[in-house]
Amino acid sequence: MIIAPKTRGFICTTAHPEGCAANVQSQIDYVNSQPPLANAPKKVLVIGSSTGYGLASRIVPAFGGGASTVGVFFEKPGTDRKTGSAGWYNSVAFEKAAHEAGLYAKSFNGDAFSNEIKDQVIATIKEDLGQIDCIVYSLASPRRTDPIDGETYKSVLKPIGESYSQKNLNTDTGEVNSVTIEPAEGDDVANTVKVMGGEDWELWLAALKDAGVLADGFQTVAYSYIGPELTFPIYTNGTIGKAKEHLEASAARMNSEFGEGTAYVSVNKALVTQASSAIPVVPLYISLLYKVMKEKGNHEGCIEQIERLFSDHLAGAGTPALDEKGRIRIDDWEMGEDVQAAVAEAWEKVTTENLSELSDFSGYKSEFLRLFGFGLEEVDYEKDTNPERPLPSEL
Ligand code: NAD
Repeated sequence: MIIAPKTRGFICTTAHPEGCAANVQSQIDYVNSQPPLANAPKKVLVIGSSTGYGLASRIVPAFGGGASTVGVFFEKPGTDRKTGSAGWYNSVAFEKAAHEAGLYAKSFNGDAFSNEIKDQVIATIKEDLGQIDCIVYSLASPRRTDPIDGETYKSVLKPIGESYSQKNLNTDTGEVNSVTIEPAEGDDVANTVKVMGGEDWELWLAALKDAGVLADGFQTVAYSYIGPELTFPIYTNGTIGKAKEHLEASAARMNSEFGEGTAYVSVNKALVTQASSAIPVVPLYISLLYKVMKEKGNHEGCIEQIERLFSDHLAGAGTPALDEKGRIRIDDWEMGEDVQAAVAEAWEKVTTENLSELSDFSGYKSEFLRLFGFGLEEVDYEKDTNPERPLPSEL
């Protein structure tokens, strides 16, 4: 089958297996080019391990520290007629590379919010690894079925209290227009907290503890975002921000239960991922941010961010450096005053006409396509390829 991108807004419904494999390999190559982690975890569980920050969080301890990894994700395998999702092909490629490097890697494709997946993962950890010493929680999901009441909750991206109008980018047409988003109503806030807050992270840790599979001195981390004031109404002060506040409260609760220095929230940089491209306003901000950071020479992608998270904080020689609220800040370069001042200036000026001059929209678009394995020089897209790719650990 010849596989080409089929995009609609922030969705691409096809993915290229070789392209995804090349993406994974370039992330592995980056990690291999860095010094090994000083204090690497040895047995790592990554929940949400197939794309974006979670995939990078699986690659870094594996290739930077020789860790055994168990990955959990919700992806679509390809068939002989239909392409699978990018996260599926990324996971196939990751496992293959890990096995070739002599590393243990097993993956679970299913609903991480469910008790069934938790039970299956824990049974495998018990049998194969005994205990784990690092748990990364990197889920981004629009819905969650609560394993106790069986109800499905939906998260929304809305401001709270009043409507929010801001410049926006139509990523299909390159038009800079404006968007108005109506405020949350009814149970929007509570539902978003239910999906994207820390409840499920705590349930995972409780289940792992009850099963006796947490090693002494284990660490766990989940990811958050803050960003500039101009996106506060839709992010930090919006429904998703409330969920992130809950994530921080979960970390605090787990630190009281398991001991200080066990649970961390890391605030990461805004990057093109499947999750971030769905947030209004953010793609325009990211396009301007990339231009500024690339010019300053301090632009990072997921793999550079997570390599820095492990080498400087979680798995370095010392303990993590924390902000006044106890969070790790690998968004420090994004939030640098000079970067933010340059982005704010460009934000005021940007229009459809000067978009390509003021922003890195072309970089945004090519990175978006790369998420699905398209636009990589080393891949021959004219060549027939088989979309059906089994996970090596299931063979
Ligand atoms: P992503 O969309 O690339 O990855 C989401 C992962 O969650 C995938 O592995 C997917 O398979 C998995 N997933 C979703 N629903 C699932 C389910 N029910 N069961 C099992 N797996 C499921 O997202 P991302 O951008 O890497 O986001 C990960 C975390 O990082 C989120 O908490 C997000 O808020 C945070 N973050 C993202 C950014 C950014 O700019 N992208 C910045 C800072 C923080």
